[in-house]
Amino acid sequence: MFEGLSGRLGDVFDKLTRRSSLSEGDVDAAMREVRLALLEADVALPVVKRFIADVKEKAIGQQVIRSVTPGQMVVKIVHDALVAMLAGPDGAAEPDPMALGLDIAQTPPVPILMVGLQGSGKTTTSAKIALRIKTRERKKVLLASLDVYRPAAQQQLAVLGEQTETDCLPIVPGQMPVEIAQRAMKEARAGGYDVVILDTAGRLHIDEALMAEVAAVREIVRPHETLLVTDAMTGQDAVTIASEFNEKVGITGIVLTRVDGDSRGGAALSMRAVTGVPVKLMGMGEKMDALDAFHPERVAGRILGMGDIVSLVEKAAQTIEVEDAERLAQRLAEGQWDMNDLLGQLRQIKRMGDVKGLLGMMPGINKMQRQLAEAQVDNKVIDHQEAIILSMTAKERRNPDLIKASRKKRIAAGSGTTVPEINRLLKQHEQMAMVMKRIKKMGGRKGLMNLLK
Ligand code: GDP
Repeated sequence: MFEGLSGRLGDVFDKLTRRSSLSEGDVDAAMREVRLALLEADVALPVVKRFIADVKEKAIGQQVIRSVTPGQMVVKIVHDALVAMLAGPDGAAEPDPMALGLDIAQTPPVPILMVGLQGSGKTTTSAKIALRIKTRERKKVLLASLDVYRPAAQQQLAVLGEQTETDCLPIVPGQMPVEIAQRAMKEARAGGYDVVILDTAGRLHIDEALMAEVAAVREIVRPHETLLVTDAMTGQDAVTIASEFNEKVGITGIVLTRVDGDSRGGAALSMRAVTGVPVKLMGMGEKMDALDAFHPERVAGRILGMGDIVSLVEKAAQTIEVEDAERLAQRLAEGQWDMNDLLGQLRQIKRMGDVKGLLGMMPGINKMQRQLAEAQVDNKVIDHQEAIILSMTAKERRNPDLIKASRKKRIAAGSGTTVPEINRLLKQHEQMAMVMKRIKKMGGRKGLMNLLK
């Protein structure tokens, strides 16, 4: 998976990173190629559009880091946007590569419900998950097949249970799925099982009867995880199926199977953005240990294949903190203060953590300084202010007087804030600029030291 996409993006960025300077046109041309590459990889169009807009916005707001080339910066921005697309807003990385990141730390027995269409790899994945939880988490797992329709489906799970040395709920002919689910939970409680994996029946297509049955089982067992198993090879269909399952029965995670095949990767890339449900696991083959947690960082790394550049830019961004501080001191001494300075200051305040506490402990800091800093210490406020400044053009940042009504509206829309918030920030900037001018009058750095006394 991802080979075609990876190759194409590689070509785009090879060209970009070799140049010492980039014009806006260069970046635009590169973004057009990225857009095409994503579409060819079968990524959903709205997802592609959002992705490109996100990258462009970040590129405009990006602080220039002198020690890396602009092309390298673009690679890093694309990488971060890719991770954001795959991880969603709260996608924390699981550091342990063998951990599956499933929600099973609950009062046992914890039910996991497996849903999906026939042939998607549900039964295989059920056994794979059982094996991993057993060996890695050292938990006692019970497997149960609720598929009473497909001939030999229950036997298939029993065979995989034997293969992975996992207990399987005995088959009682004639029982219906809801009854089997109830029996499985009862058996699990009696037998001291930690986790029960319920493999539901699939159909060839989504139909009402299937959804109703899955919903009924869900009501009975109230699973902590409802995992939809989808075949990565089916591309956009997999995304549609996921949306429908999520609407009708509600799912907590997606398992993509046949990631070892030569699918173009569109499903993996669109899933999260379209459905809002995270891809949690990837099936990497037919063997029982061929199951991986879905790590947005690692997947993005695999697609871009530019890990070196990404870490280079990350390191350079750390050293810029020192440069920032020096630059700020210099600007203070000169009595200069534009929006870029304010942005630098906001970022420093964020890095310093709880400034209120810090200021309280500092002897001799004067009242005005404290008030100024305390006005900004709410991190959420700082995030908003940062977003506002990032939505300004370079010209507006250097000369905030330009920002009148229509520009305010544009900036508010771009930063997801409101015009009053922008007014407050402009006011704050104005006050700071006045303080800076006074400092200059008092003799630059020496004046600043006097003010702090
Ligand atoms: P179910 O109908 O959803 O339960 O699907 P099965 O679990 O029976 O899987 C159908 C076929 O797909 C079997 O031959 C599996 O071995 C195969 N399969 C399942 N997952 C994967 C995977 O991640 N990679 C590959 N290559 N084959 C898989």
